[in-house]
Amino acid sequence: MTSFNDFEFTFLEEGFCARDIVEQKINESTSSDDKDAFYVADLGDVLKKHLRWARTLPRVTPFYAVKCNDSRAVVGTLATLGAGFDCASKTEIQLVQSLGVEPSRIIYANPCKQVSQIKYASAHGVQMMTFDSEVELMKVARSHDNAKLVLRIATDDSKAVCRLSVKFGATLKSSRLLLERAQELGLDIIGVSFHVGSGCTDPQTYAQAIADARYVFDMGAELGYSMTLLDIGGGFPGSDDSKLKFEEITAVINPALDKYFPADCGVRIIAEPGRFYVASAYTLAVNIIAKKVNMKEQSGSDDEDDGASDRTLMYYVNDGVYGSFNCILFDHAHVTPIVHKKPKPDERIYPCSIWGPTCDGLDRIVELCTLPDRQVGDWLLFENMGAYTVAASSTFNGFQKPDIHYVMSRSAWQCMQQIHVQGMPALVEEQSPGNMPGHCGRGSTLELPAKPCATRVL
Ligand SMILES: *Cc1c(COP(=O)(O)O)cnc(C)c1O
Repeated sequence: MTSFNDFEFTFLEEGFCARDIVEQKINESTSSDDKDAFYVADLGDVLKKHLRWARTLPRVTPFYAVKCNDSRAVVGTLATLGAGFDCASKTEIQLVQSLGVEPSRIIYANPCKQVSQIKYASAHGVQMMTFDSEVELMKVARSHDNAKLVLRIATDDSKAVCRLSVKFGATLKSSRLLLERAQELGLDIIGVSFHVGSGCTDPQTYAQAIADARYVFDMGAELGYSMTLLDIGGGFPGSDDSKLKFEEITAVINPALDKYFPADCGVRIIAEPGRFYVASAYTLAVNIIAKKVNMKEQSGSDDEDDGASDRTLMYYVNDGVYGSFNCILFDHAHVTPIVHKKPKPDERIYPCSIWGPTCDGLDRIVELCTLPDRQVGDWLLFENMGAYTVAASSTFNGFQKPDIHYVMSRSAWQCMQQIHVQGMPALVEEQSPGNMPGHCGRGSTLELPAKPCATRVL
């Protein structure tokens, strides 16, 4: 176990990847009764995302949304990489500051804050904060010494899976009133933010929101504000199996930024990606603790059949909707099981449902999927489990949260160190072909371990 900057992880042996560690943990468990669910989290994957971000959205500084996954290892990795942070509460600010992040790298991006927490931010130097109402302006005027306010505007999030603009965001009409009110109160408004909602299915939503932000900038200018910050929020997909790919979104964002906020306009652009950074870094392994075989009522006769076709299976596993799979309820996630023991080519598959360990009927992970016949003690794997999973899981019914094993390859580690010392801009420039740093980046992708991963990807 290595401890760096106050977070812990294990180095991957040369040529090994995170999946090998899953394999190793499962092997270790075969001889024992301890078959608790567990995670393997690859911090190198977080680094890869950071490089992908810098390459794809070079004008936009990421402020990681801590609520998505507040584990010290993830936040510490991103702190080392020089990212900023979107914090929504005192506790999140405390966490980020405990890792040595300076206040200028924090935006308090919760438009509706408790007064005592505004005071906390003020006392700890956190100045940037969002708002979307007049009451919030008055609270900030009374409770913060020198806030740099960012006006959160609503977006058309009708095409998003998780909508946010029903709860947050000022309309363009009320934006003018808010700007006027802020001026009366002598408050400094430095920019505009928005969030298109998560699971956004139409990249044009970003373009429209960027255009709306420009409109508010111009409105502010009429009132004498010269705003300098545009915050394009979160909602960027965290795995490549999403409907809309990251690069499809950025292909719309970049031209919109160039049109409405050209590089020489003096506006700094930030974003608040959450799931983008962590979803794919986490793999969850759960164990089958119980199983039922249901025979369907048979209609008609098919003599050759051995009866398997009218069988459905129910698997009960040791993490569920009250634990890691809360993402199904809260984040509208759809998860896909992978059997750990690979099916044989001719192995039958069955309609299956997968259930969590609690006594609640709501605790269902998958309503219907097809899997081969597996036994109690066998394992199922779920990939892309880093976002909105561990962050909101409970121990309802006495079921404990899975352990998380953090790993990183040495090449990822060296790359991270290099970024820590040189900063991202230097590194991204060096990434241009023909000018490669020793371990980082080769053309467009970061090629971590030179040797191929020891395990086949299932
Ligand atoms: C939740 C949230 C984010 C992160 O959203 P993702 O979909 O995880 O990228 C960013 N900004 C704000 C204000 C949020 O509430």
